[in-house]
Amino acid sequence: MTTLLLSQTNGAGHLTPQGHAERQDRIEAAAKALAHPRLAALLREDAPAGDLSLAELVHSPNVMDTLRDLRPAEGLRQLDADTFVAAQSLDAAATALGGVLRGIEAVVLGEADNAFVLSRPPGHHAERDRSMGFCLVNTIAIAARQAQRLYGAERIAIIDFDVHHGNGTQDIFQDDPNVFYASSHQMPLFPGTGAPGETGVGNVVNVALRAGTAGDEMRLAYKDLIFPALDNFAPDLILVSAGFDAERRDPLAQLEWVGSDYAWLTGKLMDIASRRCSNRVVSMLEGGYDLGGLASGVSAHVGMLLTGEAGPDFDHQQE
Ligand code: ZN
Repeated sequence: MTTLLLSQTNGAGHLTPQGHAERQDRIEAAAKALAHPRLAALLREDAPAGDLSLAELVHSPNVMDTLRDLRPAEGLRQLDADTFVAAQSLDAAATALGGVLRGIEAVVLGEADNAFVLSRPPGHHAERDRSMGFCLVNTIAIAARQAQRLYGAERIAIIDFDVHHGNGTQDIFQDDPNVFYASSHQMPLFPGTGAPGETGVGNVVNVALRAGTAGDEMRLAYKDLIFPALDNFAPDLILVSAGFDAERRDPLAQLEWVGSDYAWLTGKLMDIASRRCSNRVVSMLEGGYDLGGLASGVSAHVGMLLTGEAGPDFDHQQE
């Protein structure tokens, strides 16, 4: 496969308080993993700035108004218990969006088969009417709407394997039969949504996993519930909310996934993309808060996107 890696260069401007789980160190750890010689064939570009006025495609105007009003001239301003906006946060968010939009452009134009965007802050908790849960705007949702507008990609699937439910993405698309949303997540856990009974207009699949669930049970759930529904939806494009906080070391959750689970899941998504949408998969980083776990997961995920093979576990490469 030809895989485009889009890296954000201004993420450090999105400051979070000392000790906050969502921090720039995450990007550095993932970038280091992606510099491995096994991934030398990646096409690499800096993510360009995106246009945050596009947020109005999925958000009510007050979301951007609030962010602009509260954004401090320097330092940090708190939006909720764990969400902060700094002077440069909107620049970082714009580049995260620009990265996903460039990834979509590249796969639609055939410059790449698939793409991965290494950026922060994450987005999948941002609902139509509010920023929350480390997320300022719902980047993947905005990108999905823009893909429909620009490229006529009518049917968009969003697969969210972050350990937290993407309440924001579900909130935005739950009434839209042209956007499929599937999430696997630990439950109970923040944000509390994502029960299996939440099915939208038949376009939403939620797989709730108990604390302690390892990759074998995750694989069964995807095979039974998510892959058949995704295949049946016949997407024109698959977007991935790629969080790596289901990894066994993550401090914010208690699932037991390992690198090879991310490789397996990615490969299965690629199989469906091969059949349904000319391989088009654009993935973006959401969560993942243990630096080693994040590096392992990202390495496995992007390695599979590029090579189609699981490869050695990143952890073992480091030993
Ligand atoms: Zn998460």
